[in-house]
Amino acid sequence: MKDVDLIVIGAGAAGLMCAGTAAGFGKSVLVLDHAEKAGKKILISGGGRCNFTNRFAGPANFISANPHFCKSALARFSAADFISWVEQNGIAYHEREHGQLFCDESARDILDMLLQPCHEFGSRFMLNTEIHGVEKHASFVVKTDKGDFSAASVAIATGGLSIPKMGASAFGLRVAEAFGLNVIEANPGLVPFTFTGKEKERLQTLAGISLDVTVSNRGTAFTEAMLFTHRGLSGPAMLQISSYWQPGDSLCINLLPACDVRALLAEKSQQRPDAQLATALSEILPKRLVQLLFDADLRELRLKQLNHRQLEQVLETLQGWSLKPNGTEGYRTAEVTTGGVDTNELSSKTMQSNKVPGLYFIGEVVDVTGHLGGFNFQWAWSSGYAAGMAIAGI
Ligand code: FAD
Repeated sequence: MKDVDLIVIGAGAAGLMCAGTAAGFGKSVLVLDHAEKAGKKILISGGGRCNFTNRFAGPANFISANPHFCKSALARFSAADFISWVEQNGIAYHEREHGQLFCDESARDILDMLLQPCHEFGSRFMLNTEIHGVEKHASFVVKTDKGDFSAASVAIATGGLSIPKMGASAFGLRVAEAFGLNVIEANPGLVPFTFTGKEKERLQTLAGISLDVTVSNRGTAFTEAMLFTHRGLSGPAMLQISSYWQPGDSLCINLLPACDVRALLAEKSQQRPDAQLATALSEILPKRLVQLLFDADLRELRLKQLNHRQLEQVLETLQGWSLKPNGTEGYRTAEVTTGGVDTNELSSKTMQSNKVPGLYFIGEVVDVTGHLGGFNFQWAWSSGYAAGMAIAGI
């Protein structure tokens, strides 16, 4: 005997999407979460305004061992679908750079929108509930501190490991392993870099400086702002590349990506041959950064004195500054978790486990990680919808 058609574990972005979708098609749904309220990450996201999707969301914005896996779910429930739902609900929003969409008022609007179909179609919520495990007998049995509950289907939507203070846990990964599913190693993503020793001290002198750069690592590059902090490097460019970074890697940073530096220096040298290199560079870069990058000997040279070798050295430093972080700030501040349940274990159309029929994994617990800019929520909506529809038999 089953209690309900579907138990969703995790009342976050993906879990609520899945619960509301299945409930809307007549399925009885129980949502379990150990937190005291639903959608806590949604509420703090985007500085409280929730960057709920990205107008340009497509498969290229996601990292996964199988880059094709996300295509089907993203096509079935796209950014445009979520935007039209937001509009139907009369939620005011605005677009920021790179197609990022934010609520005008509050992330609460998005959470209320997700909860509405859950409540309207009678989903039951049990929050503050510790989950001890998931077993499969004739139906699934979810064991909790408030009793055992059974269901024909279970959707695991417990998210990634980021921000343990907010209730993140490895529960979903442990369930996958317990059912014999492969898990791709998890790592903090969208996270600032840290440095140690002399390098940390050097970079600390630049704390507060922000500039647009192109950072590249492992064949991927992002052109966005970089911020020097007291701990190391942050800002969108660094967060983006951190999802690709592996310990031991050096980052390659072009400090003037929008500038033909060779032509610019040639022009300045013609106009003001007696100007010092430091003066010329300080017109296009923060002075403190110029001081850190070049020794006094080089900085104080007049432009007309620069020989070929010195010019090449300057260009190489400005366009290919190499920095080797010692690590990242880790899950404490990471916005997402890379890795997760191996997509080879799941149907890309339904998110159902190939080995364990009736068991679904959705959202961040799956090895699909979005870039910064609303993509992670879009994956939560798309994967939650795919599972919800499949569970509803549609
Ligand atoms: P979550 O939303 O994390 O939900 C998981 C749920 O499972 C939680 O309610 C949790 O309490 C519950 N849970 C976990 N473990 C257990 C357990 N053992 N037992 C019971 N319940 C459990 N992405 C964007 O696209 N745009 C943004 O603006 C954005 N801003 C962010 C800001 C911050 C500070 C952070 C940390 C992340 C942000 N993200 C953003 C990422 C985004 O929040 C996540 O990718 C998204 O919430 C993942 O959805 P999910 O449903 O898989 O997991």
